[in-house]
Amino acid sequence: MSEKKEFLTIALSKGRILDETLPLLASAGIEPLEDISSSRKLVFETTRPDVRLIIIRATDVPTYVQYGGADMGVTGKDVLMEHGADGLYEPLDLKIAKCRLMTAGPKDAQSVTKGRLRVATKFVTLAKNYYASKGLQVEIIKLYGAMELAPILGLADEIVDIVDTGNTLKANGLEARELIHMISTRLVVNRASMKMKHHRIQPIIDQLAATVAQKN
Ligand code: AMP
Repeated sequence: MSEKKEFLTIALSKGRILDETLPLLASAGIEPLEDISSSRKLVFETTRPDVRLIIIRATDVPTYVQYGGADMGVTGKDVLMEHGADGLYEPLDLKIAKCRLMTAGPKDAQSVTKGRLRVATKFVTLAKNYYASKGLQVEIIKLYGAMELAPILGLADEIVDIVDTGNTLKANGLEARELIHMISTRLVVNRASMKMKHHRIQPIIDQLAATVAQKN
C-alpha cells in the first residue's frame, strides 16, 4: 500500500496512443527505462523514480483512474464517453490519434429499412444516445471488433465506429454517413490524486499542455 502512495501511476495502452504519448511524456521528463512495445510487462519504471507507467487496455483506463489504481491515464474521448467517466478530471486534450465517431452503412443502400434500424457497434451507450437524440428507436447489436462485417452479412443496417481515413469502410463497401463526435486522446486524472498529489501532477499537466500547444 505504501508503494502505491509513493508512486505516481500513469495508465497507457499499447498501439497508437502509446507511440504518440511517449514523446509527450518525454517532454515532461518521463521516459520508460525499457522498450514498452517489445515487452510483455505491465508495469514500467521511468527516468523519474517516483513515476511509473502501467499498460492496460484503452477501455480499462477510465476504470483504473476512477478507482485510483492509476493516478492519471491517457485514452480516447470515445472510450471516455462510452464509459461515462464519472469522477474523472479531464484536464487536457492531447490532440493526438484524432479521428471521428461516425455512423456508416453500405454504399448505395436504399433507405427503406422496415421496422427498427439495426446498428452494430462496440459503442453501445454512445450509439443508443445518438439515435435517441434523433428520435429513432434502434436495435443495438454489441460487437467487439470488425464491425464492418455486420452490414455485409446482413447482421445490421448500419454501424457506429471510429473513422480515420475512411479506407477501412471503403475496402468493405461501406460509406461514412453522419458524424457523431470528433475524437482525440485525452489526459484524465483521478479526483483524489488531483488533490493529494497536486504538487506532482500539476507540473506534468502544465508541461504536457505546453508541448501540445507548441505542436499544434
Ligand atoms: P481508417 O481506415 O483510417 O478510417 O481507420 C479506421 C479503423 O482504424 C477503425 O476500425 C478504427 O477502429 C481504427 N482507428 C482509426 N483511428 C483510430 C483512433 N484514433 N483510435 C482508435 N481506433 C482508431
